[in-house]
Amino acid sequence: MSASTYEALVSKLNEKSVKLVAVSKTKPVEDIMVLYEQGQRIFGENKAQELTEKYEQMPKDIEWHMIGHLQRNKVKYIAPFVSLIHAVDSLKLLKEINKQATKEDRVIPCLLQMHIAEEDTKFGLDRAELTELLESEAYRQMQHISIHGLMGMATFTDDTGQVRREFTGLKRLFDEVKAGYFADKPEFKELSMGMSGDYELAIEAGSTMVRIGSLLFGERNYA
Ligand SMILES: *Cc1c(COP(=O)(O)O)cnc(C)c1O
Repeated sequence: MSASTYEALVSKLNEKSVKLVAVSKTKPVEDIMVLYEQGQRIFGENKAQELTEKYEQMPKDIEWHMIGHLQRNKVKYIAPFVSLIHAVDSLKLLKEINKQATKEDRVIPCLLQMHIAEEDTKFGLDRAELTELLESEAYRQMQHISIHGLMGMATFTDDTGQVRREFTGLKRLFDEVKAGYFADKPEFKELSMGMSGDYELAIEAGSTMVRIGSLLFGERNYA
């Protein structure tokens, strides 16, 4: 993406107060530095090891977000530095994050990932699981995690009506959860939804944070 296209995207997002997570997975440090030089400071990765390597190699004023499914045995590697974990989808994972954050003497901001897509391949909590988690004694006892909002991924489809319904449903759930469990918690304010192909629909539906990869860096090559 050219510098002017990046600026155009950022100004469009700024107008709506939507944060940009530049998804740099599979991309080399040199490519990420190009965006860094243009002012981008929030980057997202979906593998703990890649996240850790890039954190070590790159400027320390970058906010690193873990956006992908996170295995419990990998939490310890990212706990010292990660700024936000987007895809928390179980109480067990949250417990491990709390445990590792305790060791690091820090509080780790997290988003709870909701299952909104029709495909059953996507991770995430359903409503009942969300309620169970938020009402559990274990969750209430956690001192080293902070829930900053919800995250979701829409179905990968050309049917914009369906994508819009899924995003709108997540926004409605976000509002309910905020009113029901986080009314006195101003930090519960992020709704992470929208990727390269559907971020405009996500913003219309109330996203506060979009996770954009291929639009910024070009298609990924997994070869
Ligand atoms: C890869 C990825 C993205 C970005 O996808 P693009 O279509 O390249 O923008 C967003 N969110 C998650 C969880 C991802 O794994």
